[in-house]
Amino acid sequence: MDTLLNEAPCGYFSITAKGQVQAVNQTLLTMLGYDREELLERHIELTMSVTNKMFFHTCFYPYIQLYGQVNEMYFSFRTKDGKELPVLLNGIRRERDGVTVIDCVALEMRKRIEHEKDIMQTKQRLEALYQETNEANQRLELLHVQYEKKQQELLELNEKLEMLASTDPLTGLKNRRFFQEQLQKCIAKSQETGEVFSLCIIDIDRFKSINDTYGHPVGDLVLSQLAELLQKQSAEDSVVARFGGEEFVILLPRLDQEQTLLVAERYRSATESTPLGELQITVSIGAATYLPEDTDQSLLQQADQALYLSKNNGRNRVTFYNA
Ligand code: GH3
Ligand code: MG
Ligand code: MG
Repeated sequence: MDTLLNEAPCGYFSITAKGQVQAVNQTLLTMLGYDREELLERHIELTMSVTNKMFFHTCFYPYIQLYGQVNEMYFSFRTKDGKELPVLLNGIRRERDGVTVIDCVALEMRKRIEHEKDIMQTKQRLEALYQETNEANQRLELLHVQYEKKQQELLELNEKLEMLASTDPLTGLKNRRFFQEQLQKCIAKSQETGEVFSLCIIDIDRFKSINDTYGHPVGDLVLSQLAELLQKQSAEDSVVARFGGEEFVILLPRLDQEQTLLVAERYRSATESTPLGELQITVSIGAATYLPEDTDQSLLQQADQALYLSKNNGRNRVTFYNA
């Protein structure tokens, strides 16, 4: 055999159509651990395990028969000392001197298989990592959704609490605390922009006698019905609140004295003309308009003084505070 072929950096062998070894180079002999005489004229299947023999019969031969050649077939020899020798096999069928032979080269595949194993393991690790990341992301997303839901619930709860904290439970109107806050805001705004505003205090006339005559629960009913009436009669930006007992306060943004008197008169006459259950009540009203030198307290005192005058002058009337 040609030295170049004999020592080529890949295994070479030639077999007859029946598998008898006609030639084999040193490289393959070294790979397999055989001497040349041990293989020449012997069956190539000598170098194969039972499974590989079957594979050779069911794949290699039929392929060569059909296409005349085999390319890059993954195959495994068995060395003389019984070890697996993975190779990449190329074969070609030829006619030489009137005889059919199959020339083959075998490239050792150990390194490649190791690399493939490495690649496979890395791929598996990456897939596992990806899976973990994915799961962690899903958990995170779930937590995020739960967090958002809780936050929303908290916001709603806060809103409810704020609402409760600013509401008078009997009438459902705003309470005194809320009214005071709004009054401060109106004052601040007026100081900044010069916008006028007014307020009126409304007190039920002779309410004690209603309680005394019909009982406290009826009194309560009258209070909530009057609250409803006042709210209905009010503009959207007016703040209607229960000031305490049978007294109500109404903050009237943008209204000057003249307009306030009209609005207050409307509250009075609506109360007088609307039966609350079976009862007819009247209210007395004191009103005042904010001036730059006023404080929340002075303004409330002025309205209260005006209310006092309404009571003194016979009740069921509106009085505007005059300095
Ligand atoms: P005036 O015309 O001078 O205002 O007479 P009045 O009877 O309305 O005034 P007074 O201050 O003498 O009495 C107020 C009454 O309001 C006494 C109190 O029992 C009653 N009252 C205060 N808060 C409530 C309440 O929440 N429910 C009921 N039913 N009555 C209340
Ligand atoms: Mg009173
Ligand atoms: Mg009263």
